[in-house]
Parts: sequence; structure tokens; C-alpha cells
Amino acid sequence: MQILTVSGLQKTYTTRFGSSKVQALKNVNFTVESGEYVAIMGESGSGKTTLLNILGGLDKATGGSVCYDDTDITKLADTALADFRLNKIGFVFQFYDLIPELTAKENILLPSKLAKKGKTDISDTVKKLGVENLLGRYPSELSGGQQQRVAIARALVNDPSVLLCDEPTGNLDVSTGNDVLSLLIDLNRNDNRTIVIVTHDNQLAEKCDRIIRISDGKITD
Ligand code: ADP
Ligand code: MG
Repeated sequence: MQILTVSGLQKTYTTRFGSSKVQALKNVNFTVESGEYVAIMGESGSGKTTLLNILGGLDKATGGSVCYDDTDITKLADTALADFRLNKIGFVFQFYDLIPELTAKENILLPSKLAKKGKTDISDTVKKLGVENLLGRYPSELSGGQQQRVAIARALVNDPSVLLCDEPTGNLDVSTGNDVLSLLIDLNRNDNRTIVIVTHDNQLAEKCDRIIRISDGKITD
């Protein structure tokens, strides 16, 4: 079953003073099956982050559609989109993007609070991610790998069907990166999460079900 269908996706950035345009995505088409683990690979500047941000509803396309099951998120109004993003999509960023003023636990629970779900029991998730002893710490008191594991716990707190990851190991040393990678594989294999991961890392991509290659805003393979 297809969980995600991307059709004719276009993104043109107009630079701040309107003097030039950058066509970052040029008619991108692909689908992702439910439970699949897909890597998006391409050189720096090829459009990977632009694509992932649009898939996650963090940025708007200038053409085409992004459908999760029957919902085309490019047609949603802002509040409906925010709601969809909060409940259906988990985002993991290269630089973790934890809120520095909140503890690990407060960071993990934030999406649940925003979704007014009032979840308080996160014991299963934090155990799985091995962060149960770090919950009272602030991000500045955590290593990069620990911060990323907290960020993954946060991405999972509202039980999203799809996890979008932008270079999640890009800022980590090889062995910490491998730990994070194993966690993601486990979430895919054992929890049946659909994962779309942007990466430079060939080793990481080899462990995925499929690699989508992007070059100059177009899918090449
Ligand atoms: P990648 O993640 O593959 O390195 P990006 O999606 O970040 O690539 O960028 C794709 C292209 O779009 C690049 O040419 C980049 O310079 C351009 N771009 C990205 N963000 C903006 C922006 N906010 N304004 C203008 N151009 C942008
Ligand atoms: Mg990028």
C-alpha cells in the first residue's frame, strides 16, 4: 500500500530582493510504500532538504502535490497543515533542533502538548532509545548522539506513521552515527514505521530498501 505519493513537485525560490529565481525541484515524482525505508541521496545543493521540508509540510511547494494516503498536504490551510504535521509526521534534523531551555523530557513531550494529547507516559519510547536516564538534563548537557536520540524520541511521541530524517547522522562521529542508524532500522523493521532519510552516507543508504537519487532538482534513479 502506498503511504506517500509525490507528483509533479516543483519548488522555485525567489531570492529576497526578487532579483533571481532558483529552481530547486523540477517535476519530482515518486511513491513510498507503507513500511518502506527509503534513502534520498544527492550532492550538496541538489534539492534534498527542500524536498524533505516540503514532504514534511515545513515549506510550501510552488507546484505539484504531496499526498499521504488521501490527504494532499499542499492543499491544506495553515492550521490544518500544522495539525497534520504534528500528528502524522515525525521530523529528525541534522542539528537535532532541541529547545535549549527545555529538559530532554520536556522536549520529548512538547509535540504531545502542542497536539493537546496530554501524554505523560513516555517510558517505552525512552527505553527503546536508551535515554531514560537523561530525561532531566538540558540539551547543552548531552552529547550529540544523546541529543539525536532525544530528538528521535520527540519525533515519535505522537506516534506518526512517517519519519522524515534530514542527514540524522551528518553531525555525529562514525560509531555514534551507526548507533543512531541501528535505532532507525529497528524502528522500521520492528515498529513498521515508514522512514524517508536524506543522507550523504553510502553505508547508511545501503541498509535501506531503496535509494532515490536526486541531481539538480530532478530524480535520476
Ligand atoms: P541539499 O539539501 O541537497 O544540499 P537544498 O535543498 O538545501 O539542497 O538546496 C537546493 C537548491 O535550492 C540550492 O541551489 C540552494 O542554494 C537553493 N536554496 C535552498 N534554500 C533556498 C532559499 N531559502 N532561498 C533561495 N534558494 C535556496
Ligand atoms: Mg540539505
